[in-house]
Amino acid sequence: MAQGQKLVAVRPDACCPGRLRDFVVAATRVVERGGAEPDVLAVMTPLLAALVGTDDWLPPEFAAPSPDRYCQYLLHCDPLERFSVVSFVWAPGQHTPVHDHTVWGLIGQLRGAERAERFTPPPELRPLGADLLEPGMVGAVSPSIGDVHRVCNALDDRASISIHVYGGNIGRIPRHTFDPLTGEAKRFVSGYVNAVLPNIWSAAP
Ligand code: FE
Repeated sequence: MAQGQKLVAVRPDACCPGRLRDFVVAATRVVERGGAEPDVLAVMTPLLAALVGTDDWLPPEFAAPSPDRYCQYLLHCDPLERFSVVSFVWAPGQHTPVHDHTVWGLIGQLRGAERAERFTPPPELRPLGADLLEPGMVGAVSPSIGDVHRVCNALDDRASISIHVYGGNIGRIPRHTFDPLTGEAKRFVSGYVNAVLPNIWSAAP
C-alpha cells in the first residue's frame, strides 16, 4: 500500500442487501448464455421486474438526487462490458434530452414514477406516444424496437428512481441527443456520477 493511502473498512451495515447481488449473478448467466436480443430481453425483463418489485435494497448513497441534474449511479458493470446496471435518480422537474442508446436497455421503476415519450428515429423524430412507469413496471428500448425517447420525473413533489440495465457499459458508449425541432444530432458519452460502487459481495443474503 502506498504511503499515506488509507484503508477503508467495509461495514456490513453499509452493504446492499442480497437482491442486487442475486440480480447481477442471474443477469451474468443470461449474457453468458448469449442468444438473440428478444430472447435475452424475455429472460432479463422478469429478473428486473423482481428486482424493482421490492424497494428495500438500494443504498441511500445511490438514491440521492442532485438539484443540478438527474444522476446516473453505476451499480454494476459486467467485467466484459456485456451489461451494466445503473440507478437513475430524478429530482422533481428533471428530464433528459431526446436521446438514443444504441444498445438494448431495460428500465425498471423502483420508486416514484417516470414518463417516457417515444419518438421515431431521426431526422423525423415523430412523437409515438408516452408511457408512465410506476413501481414494479419495466420498459424497454433498443435500436430494433425503438431507441429514441425523452424521460422525465412524473412527480412534482419528490424524487423518482429507476434501475436501468443495458446491453453494454452504457456510461462509455458514444450515443446521441437530438434537437426535437430540427432533428440535429449531437454525440455524447454519459459517464457516471459516482466514484465508488456498492459493495454487493459481503452483503447479507
Ligand atoms: Fe434513455
